[in-house]
Amino acid sequence: MLVQTHELCSVPSFDHDYGMEDYGKGVARWCPGCGGHSILTTVQRVCKDMQYEPEKTVVVSGIGCSGRFPHYMGTYGFHGLHGRAFPVASGVKFRRPDLNVFVVTGDGDCCSIGAAHWVHAIRYNMKMVALLFDNGIYGLTKKQTSPTSPMGTHSNTHPRGSVLPPINPIQTTLGLANVSFVAQTVDWNATHLYATIRKAAEHPGLAFVRIVQRCPAFMRDLYGDIAVNPKNLILLSHENGINLKPKAREAFGRVIEHDPSNIHKAREHAEIHDGIPIGLLYQNTDNARYDEYGAHNLGMGVKEKKQNLESLLNQYSTSNSVE
Ligand code: SF4
Ligand code: MG
Repeated sequence: MLVQTHELCSVPSFDHDYGMEDYGKGVARWCPGCGGHSILTTVQRVCKDMQYEPEKTVVVSGIGCSGRFPHYMGTYGFHGLHGRAFPVASGVKFRRPDLNVFVVTGDGDCCSIGAAHWVHAIRYNMKMVALLFDNGIYGLTKKQTSPTSPMGTHSNTHPRGSVLPPINPIQTTLGLANVSFVAQTVDWNATHLYATIRKAAEHPGLAFVRIVQRCPAFMRDLYGDIAVNPKNLILLSHENGINLKPKAREAFGRVIEHDPSNIHKAREHAEIHDGIPIGLLYQNTDNARYDEYGAHNLGMGVKEKKQNLESLLNQYSTSNSVE
């Protein structure tokens, strides 16, 4: 039952049966000030507002600080191998399309060892929410250059500064076949973070959300100034995008009207360097979804599969007997 709209953005809230306590578990052991804390609370809140049944919700992670996320959710979870969150989540969704699936991955996890899985998960476009925690560093292993570290980052692997240009995760995702949803937000703007993950949860396909994440332990200076001064954020706004109420929009230095159906403009905005553009860059709800085929056994029932297999085997037995 619709009861009200959210205080600062126009997404609806519902009368709840499940409360926040149904989605939480344990105490998150990330560093004080880590962006992971606000993302965790926001995902729990989205689950509550969507009234996801905890026993029908699965959070899959890889390795890294973000990998601990499923341990703090009162849902099912899978803390898997480095870079392998996407294939595990895809397997879950393919066989159980009725489940609500979240992928939690970091920049080292997704954009390095897991890059091949990231590419194909986007193409398969199974309905799930993929959250990229991008702090521009390997945090769990205490400060190595990651694929998204800005050039010149001083780290344990590059004490004199990293030398290669970083991967731009949203630009990369926008270039992949069958991409259907790409958004960007920041961990420290609770209103925008909530509205983005909520929009992602409602998307019929794979919703890829890059969350620019603070890591005060190892990248204190990377987003420090930007986080202190919200004027450095550029809000991408559109009636079909992530809409904030006027009071929340006032905090932004620039607002750009961007139609999320325009992938060419999305790619232009993904390249903005004099601030961080946040909002829905691209959405297409018509793309093919592989989980819809899985729900119907790739269009074949078990009986039909057996018949096909038997007729295939019979072909060989016939040709053998002829010889
Ligand atoms: Fe968060 Fe960085 Fe600490 Fe990891 S090392 S928990 S990313 S602040
Ligand atoms: Mg990282």
